[in-house]
Amino acid sequence: MPELPEVETVRRDLSRVYAGDKLARIVVTGRRTVRRHSPDALAALDGQVLSSVGRLGKYLWLEWEDGHVLVAHLRMSGQMLAVEPGAPTEPHTHAVFYFSRGELRFVDPRTFGELFLASPLPDRDGTAPAGPPAAGPSTGARVAELAHLGPDALVAEAGYLKTTFAGRRGPLKSLLVDQRVLAGIGNIYADEICFEAKVRPDRPGGSLKSRELQRVAASTRSVLGAAISLRGSTLADQQYSDLFGAQGGYQSRHNVYGRLALPCTSCGVPVQRVRFGAKSAFWCPRCQR
Ligand SMILES: [Zn+2]
Repeated sequence: MPELPEVETVRRDLSRVYAGDKLARIVVTGRRTVRRHSPDALAALDGQVLSSVGRLGKYLWLEWEDGHVLVAHLRMSGQMLAVEPGAPTEPHTHAVFYFSRGELRFVDPRTFGELFLASPLPDRDGTAPAGPPAAGPSTGARVAELAHLGPDALVAEAGYLKTTFAGRRGPLKSLLVDQRVLAGIGNIYADEICFEAKVRPDRPGGSLKSRELQRVAASTRSVLGAAISLRGSTLADQQYSDLFGAQGGYQSRHNVYGRLALPCTSCGVPVQRVRFGAKSAFWCPRCQR
């Protein structure tokens, strides 16, 4: 399942390839892909120029010159693919954007992903803004449907974690993957962040000391940043590929995720898996406390 680094990789590529380009039309064939409103509503984008591509957590949005905002969530298996005009249509293609610069396809075998037109939140003075604030990561979209999300994980700060984790008995990993706490982290990066921070993933969030919270915040930023620089992680299920169909490169850098019984990359002790509630996490019993 794509997490923040994978979605950010797609955002950067979408921006590079299509920003400033005109959309001739969008054709939706997947009924589940556009399910919050009628697919016909997307005709409002026909003839529009894409002004920017933004992201908050695992959500992307495409902002158009007339102020429309189209939100995309890849969920389990959604992919954005840039293809040559007229290229054979892949199975599970549910929407096609016909840009001047080529076709952009939304492909999603599991069909949990979705596209929807956002309803902008009223501004403080009561007027609706033209769309989210400046494009780019972690701008905090003023989109009503994304108002439940916490701050983008790329800007995680120790002070915020201290306030948010205070008194929480839930395991650290459960808090890290809670999109209301921090937006963008899933199973893979939560385990890698806990490893780099040298903290057990099943520690109650409220039990972390200030120094540990600082390590968690710093590791969140550095692990996600390193993963973005290698264009994300593609696991054996191949559910993530970039805009051009290529795999990410960060999976070879995983220290604990998916490495049960393999030697810890730091100390050599076999990686273990701990279960808590419905979740589990990979961790090193020597390096993490
Ligand atoms: Zn270790």
